[in-house]
Amino acid sequence: MRLTVLGSTGSIGTQTLSIVRDNPGEFTVEVITGNRNTRLLELQAREFKPKLVCAADETCANELRTKLADMDIKVLGGKESIKEAAAFENSDTAVVSVVGMAGIEPTLAAIRSGKRIALANKETLVAAGAVIKKSLKKYGGELLPVDSEHSAIFQSMLGMHDRSEIKRIILTASGGTFYGKKLDELRDVTPDQAMHNPNWDMGAKVTIDSSTLVNKGLEMIEAKWLFDIDIDRIKVVVHRQSILHSAVEFTDNAVIAQLGAPDMRLPIQFALTYPKRMPIRDNELDLCKCADLTFEEPDTETFYALELAKKAGRDNGTLAAVFNAADEEAVELFMSGRLKYTQIAEAIEYAMDRHKSVKNPSLEDIYEADKEARRAVAEDFAGGK
Ligand code: MG
Repeated sequence: MRLTVLGSTGSIGTQTLSIVRDNPGEFTVEVITGNRNTRLLELQAREFKPKLVCAADETCANELRTKLADMDIKVLGGKESIKEAAAFENSDTAVVSVVGMAGIEPTLAAIRSGKRIALANKETLVAAGAVIKKSLKKYGGELLPVDSEHSAIFQSMLGMHDRSEIKRIILTASGGTFYGKKLDELRDVTPDQAMHNPNWDMGAKVTIDSSTLVNKGLEMIEAKWLFDIDIDRIKVVVHRQSILHSAVEFTDNAVIAQLGAPDMRLPIQFALTYPKRMPIRDNELDLCKCADLTFEEPDTETFYALELAKKAGRDNGTLAAVFNAADEEAVELFMSGRLKYTQIAEAIEYAMDRHKSVKNPSLEDIYEADKEARRAVAEDFAGGK
């Protein structure tokens, strides 16, 4: 199988490449793209010998051209070249693990070129779900989730007779770093305290987002688009151990779930090899060693960003793009000390309240909503209103 890995130097990108490394003969890497980490891009290019490597801009690309002068690899730089990389024809599957809104257009380019999309970028579906769905329909595309929860839902639906038999989706949440805490205990939380996650090793933004439950909110909206289901039929359940990765409840009350040790290799690999499964070394789940699996309702009074996400998810227009952008901006301001931790949710609500949703949005409408939300948070909310 021929792969394009968009965002190869990030957490999902490097884990994708380690799956390739662990399964000699199964995959070839045709394209890798990264941002500014030219050192790692060089190492990856030498190891996996792709035909095309893309970096953030011309400066990085020139640096890479010099480093890779002894190899027969095409090197490009800049935003447009990432789209070109996404559409690279000699490849079957594009892993989209680019961070942020920058994932939308490469995903669309990959869909247009007829590739399977293994999607690890949340913003693509959260902000542009309607646009992506339209494009998938038009080009007969296939989009598979890489996120552990969505992969679990996808796996739980395999073999289902008919979609009408789905009663609800049960989306599990680890509860984050501040599980059990109340709002007034969280006001003085520092970035360092919020950066600690016990079960998963993730990037900074995702770690903060899982502590505020914004991450779960984004995942609800993602699930709504992925599985064509009303957001009110997605139930979030706090499950501290991260062993049951999510489930589907059917009309006859059967609950089918996927369990496993917390290991991103499984959902990444399954998105690549579906419908086949391939062995993964280590990290077997020993059920006898996880006797205490707990499930409970989320505390939506403290972590009310989850309720805001639901509201955003009921709107099929631009409100979810606002939810996403306002959070991104607020997290950045929190990390730089300009907002308090509890103001992250307040800032999201502030931006959402001020937004007039555009129904059936174009990409331009979505980018406009994104910009407007960032401005509302950075200038009006943080700047003293
Ligand atoms: Mg997740």
